[in-house]
Amino acid sequence: MSETEKVHCLIIGSGPAGYTAAIYAARANLKPVLYQGLQPGGQLTITTEVENYPGYPNGIMGPQMMVDFEQQAQRMGADIRWGLATKVDFSKQPYRVEIDEEKWIEADSVIIATGASAKWLGLESEERLNGHGVSACAVCDGFFFKNHEVAIVGAGDTACEEALYLSKLCSMVHMFIRRSEMRASKIMQDRVMKTPNIKVYWNTDTLEIMGEHKVDSVKIFNNKTNEESIIPLRAFFVAIGHEPNSSLFKGLLDMDDQGYLITQPDSTRTNLPGVFACGDVQDKIYRQAVSAAGSGCMAALDAERYLGTLEH
Ligand code: NDP
Repeated sequence: MSETEKVHCLIIGSGPAGYTAAIYAARANLKPVLYQGLQPGGQLTITTEVENYPGYPNGIMGPQMMVDFEQQAQRMGADIRWGLATKVDFSKQPYRVEIDEEKWIEADSVIIATGASAKWLGLESEERLNGHGVSACAVCDGFFFKNHEVAIVGAGDTACEEALYLSKLCSMVHMFIRRSEMRASKIMQDRVMKTPNIKVYWNTDTLEIMGEHKVDSVKIFNNKTNEESIIPLRAFFVAIGHEPNSSLFKGLLDMDDQGYLITQPDSTRTNLPGVFACGDVQDKIYRQAVSAAGSGCMAALDAERYLGTLEH
């Protein structure tokens, strides 16, 4: 039989939400144990400089910021561990979470902070140039390409919103849409179409992002005319949607049709008592480090209150 450990407050995930939950839970003496998951530090570890997180007047590199978060959580006494939650059993309390398919943790409360992952096109060049002109976050990285030409792929509300954001910074935004129409809401489409420095390319697939150490151009393909062309530019933004990392909880916790965990209004409570969700796994609207950290704080406070009710 595999080994079982009992903990008071288990946190799954190590982005701003998970670490902030750990800081608050540790200070409240909940003795939190946090498992970092596949990508310790989360999505911020694949960005470059973060300039919009309050408290860093000179900006900070995303990976360094997550090291700071981790160290702060550790200093408060959180038990931060390398490991991946591989299975959960929420059928009765205490809840059980399997780690690395090896050991089980029994937890009085569980804070889910597993985040979301940007979807990518799947090109080799996209992976190679990630962080060197390829980005999945215009709000994070657009500023670095001020007054330059950039491209964005995607045709949903996020792509439109990010194209509009980029149009205020960059000289030209080339927007590649794979079909002859956009999925985005009418109002967002109208705004994009009315913006003089956004050029929309319909029926367009991206074949390759080019550049040795940084993006210098992109090769596209018109799937109606079969024409290829090359556009010189400095950055390539991917905005084809995000996927919440919630598959582990399918059938156990309420989620919307895209898989985002549903929390009760003004709280981080899920449909199960003692199970809380924070950060991007339950937020498809704001998706910012600072808003994720704020909801991590809320989750720890909610868990503290909940655990208080168990003791009485
Ligand atoms: P969506 O899933 O709505 O859109 C993804 C877009 O990416 C689609 O246009 C899709 O094309 C395109 N796409 C997917 N895969 C590829 C690919 N391999 N190559 C090229 N294009 C691809 O994601 P969003 O992130 O835009 O939005 C998610 C949700 O959040 C939506 O419900 C949206 O309405 C909402 N949202 C609302 C906002 C607002 O109201 N202000 C702002 C941002 C998001 P295709 O259409 O051909 O499938």
